[in-house]
Amino acid sequence: MMSEIKPLILIIEDDPQTRRLLKTNLCNRGWRVIEAENGKLGLSLVKSDSPDLVILDLGLPDIDGLTVTKRLRQLSDLPVLVLSARSQEQNKIMALDAGADDYLTKPFSIGEMHARLQALLRRVIRTASSMEIFQTGELKVELARRKVFIADNEVHITPIEYRLLLILIRHAGLVVTHRELLKEVWGVEHINDQHYLRIYMGQLRHKLETNPARPRYLLTEVGVGYRLIDEEN
Ligand code: CA
Repeated sequence: MMSEIKPLILIIEDDPQTRRLLKTNLCNRGWRVIEAENGKLGLSLVKSDSPDLVILDLGLPDIDGLTVTKRLRQLSDLPVLVLSARSQEQNKIMALDAGADDYLTKPFSIGEMHARLQALLRRVIRTASSMEIFQTGELKVELARRKVFIADNEVHITPIEYRLLLILIRHAGLVVTHRELLKEVWGVEHINDQHYLRIYMGQLRHKLETNPARPRYLLTEVGVGYRLIDEEN
């Protein structure tokens, strides 16, 4: 499986410079790369080459990235990392809600890119196996027993806080949008009730963070959602 063979990454991006930068770095890492300069070719490569992961630029010349994301999701569950420009904030959120797994805002650092890709590939491995314990820094969660520990001290958390934490754990290292969290925990009728999240994330931080105002684990992505930091990354 993926950890043994080199992952195949599909880059869908019209800008040759960004493509070259990504390709060089991914190849240096030993990963295999195929490229498409537009959405149409990208989608056909997904079908013909079955890549392990897609890096998708939101600003493409033919089909816009949001539409590509939706079509990709109809085809498969493979991880999708979107690249967005600062001017595409709203598109980025829509792409995440349409099923993209995470994003990088241009210009991005290579370190950031590797962290995102690593988290994405690990999500795939994690979904394939059943994880029993999640650990990052001093936070440990025993999933089978639904128990949460900080530095080996058990922390009591409510069922709603646990559900919220569990979704973030399933996406460890990756952003989860407000909409997605609200939908998963409270249901579709509450996808706009962002104050629920502020309240419950606040409570979780008070229980799990040494300094809730400067969280180490539960990060806010302004205007987008939350990200549980995976320090094993
Ligand atoms: Ca572009």
